[in-house]
Amino acid sequence: MPLNQTHDPELRSWVASANNANSDFPIQNLPFAIFRRKSDNSTNNEAFRAGVAIGDQILDLAAVYKANAFPKSLAPTLHTLTQPNLNQVMALGSSEWSRLRLQLSQALSQGASEETELKACLVPQSQAEYDLPAHIGDYTDFYSSIHHATNVGKLFRPDNPLLPNYQWVPIAYHGRSSSIKVSGHEFHRPLGQLKPPHKDTPVLAPSQRLDYELEVGIFIGTGNDLGHPIPLDEAENHVFGICLFNDWSARDIQGWEYQPLGPFLAKNFASTISPWIVTMEALAPYRQAWTRPADHPQPLPYLDSEQLRQQGALDMHLEAYIQTPLMREQNAPAERIALSNFNHSYWSVSQMVTHHSISGCNLRPGDLLGSGTMSGASEKSVGALLEATHGGKKPITLTNGEQRTFLADGDTITLKGFCQHSNAPRIGFGDASATVLPAMKM
Ligand code: MN
Repeated sequence: MPLNQTHDPELRSWVASANNANSDFPIQNLPFAIFRRKSDNSTNNEAFRAGVAIGDQILDLAAVYKANAFPKSLAPTLHTLTQPNLNQVMALGSSEWSRLRLQLSQALSQGASEETELKACLVPQSQAEYDLPAHIGDYTDFYSSIHHATNVGKLFRPDNPLLPNYQWVPIAYHGRSSSIKVSGHEFHRPLGQLKPPHKDTPVLAPSQRLDYELEVGIFIGTGNDLGHPIPLDEAENHVFGICLFNDWSARDIQGWEYQPLGPFLAKNFASTISPWIVTMEALAPYRQAWTRPADHPQPLPYLDSEQLRQQGALDMHLEAYIQTPLMREQNAPAERIALSNFNHSYWSVSQMVTHHSISGCNLRPGDLLGSGTMSGASEKSVGALLEATHGGKKPITLTNGEQRTFLADGDTITLKGFCQHSNAPRIGFGDASATVLPAMKM
C-alpha cells in the first residue's frame, strides 16, 4: 500500500492532545472502536456506535453523520458507523475505508474548516466505555511464532520440539468467539479436567496453571465466497485492521486434552481484545521485508510472492504488563513482563488469510484471526508465562519480590502495542486488559 498524505509525519491536529509525541492516537493513526458514554446510573440507554480515536478524545461518527459535517457522498458510509458494530463498514472494502480515512484526516487537521462542527462531536476517552468492535462470527487462532512453537514443543515433547509440518503449513485451531470480550473485563479462573503428573486418573478442578498469550488480532473486512480462495497478493485488501489479542490459556487443562484434536476447554473460557482497530492503511509506514532463513523450507508458491518478500512483515512492538493485587494495594504501576515484536512472525498476515481460505473456506466481515503467541528468540521477549517459567519450573520474580509461575487470582494482564519508524510517528493500539477472578464454586 503506497504512502499518501494521511501518513505525512508533519500533519498536526486541532485536537491538541493528538500532537503529544507519547499519544497512542496522533492524526496519522485514526483507529476505529465501538463506544458510548459511561453512565452513573445502573441502566445506560445510550446506544453504542463507532468512533475514531484522536489524542485523548473520540470523534463520535454517529454525531458526525447527524451533523452532515462530511461530503454527501460519504453519507452511506457514515450511516454504517451509527450501528453498534463495525461489520457493515468492514464489508465496504479497502477503497471506501481509504476514502473515509482521507476525509477524517483532512477534517481533523489543523486549519480544517470542519473544526467548529466536529468539536461538538468529541467525547473524552475518559468518559467512554467500549463494546466489541465487531460481531465476531468465527475466530481462528494461528501459531505463527516459530520461537513460541519451539519453546512450547520442548516442554510438551522434549525429543521432538518442532513438528515437521510447522515450517510448511500455517498451523491454527478454530477457536470460540462467544467468550471474546473487550478490554476491561474480569473472568473466573476456569474449571476443567486436569491430570496431576503423578496420578493415573484426572480430576475436575480449577486450573492451577492459568496463563496469558501476547498476540495480534487480525480483523477480516471484506470476505470471500465459499469455494473461492483469496490469492496472496489480494489478501491484505480483505483485512480491515489489527488489534491486540490475549488468548488466555489453562496449561494444565491443555496438557491433558490437547491430543489428538488440539485445544478445547483450555482456551474457550475467555479471550480479550483491545477496543481500537488500527487499519492496514495506517500501518503502511511500518512494513518490513518478509524473510525466511535460506536453510528453512521456502513457502509453497501459493504462499509466496514478490510483494510478500518486499513488505509482508509488520514492525509492531508488543508488550505485556502484570499488576498483582499487592501492587494495586500499594499503588504501584503495572510491571512489564514481555517485550516482543510482530516481525518475529514466521507467517505473515497475508499468508494466514490465504492459507485459511485455500480450502475454499469463506471468511466473513468481522471474523477474527489471532496471530498466536508472538514470542521472539530472547528470554525477555517470550509472550506467555509457560515459556518464561520453563513450564512452571523457574518462577519469575517481580520488582516487589513477588513471584509467579502462573497467574494468581486478582492478577491483571495488560497488553500494549505500538509502531514507530524514523520517517513516521509513533502510533499505538491502546490496551487489552483483563483481570482473573477466583474460580466459580463447583
Ligand atoms: Mn493462542
